[in-house]
Amino acid sequence: MMELNTLTAHNLTELLKKGDISPLDICNSIINRIEKTEKSLAALAHFDKEKALERCGNLSKTAEKGELWGIPIFIKDNICVKDELTTCSSKILKGFKPPYNATVIDKLTGLDAILMGKTNMDEFAFGSSTETSCYGPTRNPWDLERIPGGSSGGSAAAVAGDEAIFALGSDTGGSIRQPAGVCGVVGLKPTYGRVSRYGLIAFASSLDQIGPITKDVEDAAILLKAISGHDEMDSTSADIPVSDYLAGMKKSIKGLKIGVPKEYFIEGMDKEVKNSIKAAIEKLEKLGAVCEDTSLPHTEYAVSVYYLVATAEASSNLARFDGVQYGLRADNIKSMMDMYKKTRKEGFGDEAKRRIILGTFALSSGYYDAYYSKALKVRTLIKTDFDKAFQKFDAIVTPTSPTAAFKIGEKISDPLTMYLSDIFTISANLAGIPGISIPCGFTKNNLPIGLQILGKPFDEETILRIAYNYEQNTDWHKRKPDIK
Ligand code: GLN
Repeated sequence: MMELNTLTAHNLTELLKKGDISPLDICNSIINRIEKTEKSLAALAHFDKEKALERCGNLSKTAEKGELWGIPIFIKDNICVKDELTTCSSKILKGFKPPYNATVIDKLTGLDAILMGKTNMDEFAFGSSTETSCYGPTRNPWDLERIPGGSSGGSAAAVAGDEAIFALGSDTGGSIRQPAGVCGVVGLKPTYGRVSRYGLIAFASSLDQIGPITKDVEDAAILLKAISGHDEMDSTSADIPVSDYLAGMKKSIKGLKIGVPKEYFIEGMDKEVKNSIKAAIEKLEKLGAVCEDTSLPHTEYAVSVYYLVATAEASSNLARFDGVQYGLRADNIKSMMDMYKKTRKEGFGDEAKRRIILGTFALSSGYYDAYYSKALKVRTLIKTDFDKAFQKFDAIVTPTSPTAAFKIGEKISDPLTMYLSDIFTISANLAGIPGISIPCGFTKNNLPIGLQILGKPFDEETILRIAYNYEQNTDWHKRKPDIK
């Protein structure tokens, strides 16, 4: 039999139902894998084998079983799990254990999934490479010298490296889709408001969404369904019914209209990426979709707008980490001001400090109108571009990233180049629309390439449907990295 840790949640559920395997078998298989590969990958921020086994042992055996009964899941380190370390991979949250669960955690445990541990991430989700974590970088399972993407790089590497069946990430400007793309797995950012943000430690509250990182599209549909829905603890969560994604995605894509925006095929983009995306579009046409060129004219402003809006919100959200209530408090302090200053100086890494300074500047009186308020106006234009395109198209396809995974260290000292890694993912967050990245090819160096499919607000069903039809007719998702 195949190693259980390499299977999908839907495969495992079938085996569990037949009684061929037990949750403990799955747990042990994951633990064995972690013992073998975690030294190379460093995908996990907090993992306690005994606790995972204990949770597995505590699963109800007789009562009615939830849909995720016995399926292990890993959680990005910025999602609160009661009484478990939740540190956003930042020194400033050292030792922090939240007194409550995020809504998504209650939903998952309510369905009898088993919480395994927390995955590594860029500090406070600031980054595209998982190099800014206080625990050190995670490595890409396809090439250990390369980044796994970010900021949910730990979740993507754990899933791609078979240390996890599936995992949760968060996406503010691409942090689910980009790591999924460069690790060769599936990552879905839901519509803003589809999934409760209660208990997600905020980066940029108007952009953040929690979403699944999985081995295939079916698992993405299952996990999305499990965590979606209205939550009175999050006033931005939408009171809109959750579709039956699993049934919806199995419909044919014949006749669906798909737009291909010309602004996403830019100068300087990798040739191999471009060719894979072109081939994927041809495949979608063969499957019956009608693909046509379109334009999203304000795309060129997305990165600038994002780095004003996201840093402005981040600077405000991070004000709460001051040494009083959470995590770290600096030693040898002389006054309250001294405590704030020393704690924040010691606790935040360089990228977090850079963003706090940038965001504070953009919000300061005198500059607010020139930067922040202008950025909001252009954000509306970007959203309007999508509204117009979706009058004609059911979905839009683009590359997930302009290149495959880059080398660790290659961009970390050049923030502006790093910021461009998300040039294709950021607009979806600014517009609030859903997006999925699925594997669509490999470079000649055997590095995965991701195809991004963007959809109308709350129409996750259509992007899953396109993704599923494509996946069922290709083999990219079946390849596995050989971790040395
Ligand atoms: N890489 C982008 C950033 O650095 C997006 C991060 C994210 O989605 N959390 O802000």
